[in-house]
Amino acid sequence: MFKKEIKKQKKIKSTKAEKPKQLQSPKGMHDILPGDQIWWDEMRKISADIAQFYNFSPIETPVLEQVELFERSVGTSTDIVEKEMFTLKTKGGDRLVLRPEGTASIARAYIEHGLSHMPQPLKVWYAEPMFRHESPQAGRFRAFHQTGFEIIGGNIDALFDAQIILSLHRFLEAANIKSLTIQINSIGCKVCRPNYLKKLINYYKDKTKKLCNDCRNRLEANPLRLLDCKKETCVPIKADAPSLLDHLCATCKDHFKSVLEYLDELGIIYTLNPYLVRGLDYYSRTVFEIFSDASPLALAGGGRYDYLIELLGGQPTPGVGGAIGLERVIEAMKAANLKPNVKFKPTIYLVHLGDVAKRKSLKIIEMFRSSGIRVKESLGKDSLKNQLRSADRERANLALILGQKEVYEESIILRDLDSGTQESILISKVVEEVKKRLR
Ligand code: AMP
Repeated sequence: MFKKEIKKQKKIKSTKAEKPKQLQSPKGMHDILPGDQIWWDEMRKISADIAQFYNFSPIETPVLEQVELFERSVGTSTDIVEKEMFTLKTKGGDRLVLRPEGTASIARAYIEHGLSHMPQPLKVWYAEPMFRHESPQAGRFRAFHQTGFEIIGGNIDALFDAQIILSLHRFLEAANIKSLTIQINSIGCKVCRPNYLKKLINYYKDKTKKLCNDCRNRLEANPLRLLDCKKETCVPIKADAPSLLDHLCATCKDHFKSVLEYLDELGIIYTLNPYLVRGLDYYSRTVFEIFSDASPLALAGGGRYDYLIELLGGQPTPGVGGAIGLERVIEAMKAANLKPNVKFKPTIYLVHLGDVAKRKSLKIIEMFRSSGIRVKESLGKDSLKNQLRSADRERANLALILGQKEVYEESIILRDLDSGTQESILISKVVEEVKKRLR
């Protein structure tokens, strides 16, 4: 009885002492820590510059959408809808999904808000997180960020296809990524694709035993995807498959030719890839992906989607768009030893010595605020050495040093951190003096 009691007590003690389990971010999802923000500032800056230059307006859509949106647009037999959606059921019984891509949401918003009544085509861009339940590996995450550009409405004009490809290409050039390759293809339209698909299914029909499981399952539901398969078993078989480009109708041929002519005119080099089909059902005609030499994974991709708006209940409306994977761009930049090109604004750093000075610090910072000058500080640190080290890390140009003596004399030391020279200035004059130096 006594022994049992001791055992029980020990058990309680050991449970009490157990350290709580350390929590981690969900698999394939990452924190972007302060030290890495400089890369994301760079991505935001390039996105906004490109969007502004090519006249795209920003658009934001909810991170959650109805499951049906992607089932109807991306397609039920695609990897995204079949395997990769993060779905949830709300307390009210709605089936929602964390947005796996941006185009379908924008198409939904276009219909829902009557954006066809605005000047056409509508040119919009976004930079948002996307979620796909994939097997995480290098360059492939479950939460990742895309910057995307879409041109919806107006005519089916090859100029718009070229402008989307150009915008994405210029984005990657602005990130200094070298050796870019654009792979491009046309997957035809409602008129020519059914005939091609019949031929494709016919070609594969007596080869099913040699195909991988995915391809065997997709042969009826989504035969185009067989051209996309990279498995060893399937690659040699697809080499002899009928080519999409040989089966385009006259209108699709003309459109594709015209897209290529625009790219030629711009001096943008591309490679024709008759096997490129992309993983989403809504594409028609032009599809493309952009690669760099450094990785077999695409940095960007997109295409035309002339049936998407209609598929979602709108009037027949053409569209074309593309998106860049920002994590992959940052990785490519890091791999090539590139640094973000962010220009540093002159930085002022306030250093305080002692409690009296600390108390005065917030007021001094406020004096600069009304003049639009940002002052950095590390008010949580007391030692001069640590504060100067922080100033150095922040690449500050000027330091304002405030000690007890200065507070009593209503002055402050202004130190030029590049030259090391310093002088004492009246607090009432310091903002003007700093402004003068920044000029
Ligand atoms: P998509 O929406 O599939 O056309 O993809 C456009 C771009 O987003 C790709 O070229 C990649 O750069 C990026 N991307 C797509 N899926 C992922 C993922 N799971 N992890 C990281 N980046 C991705």
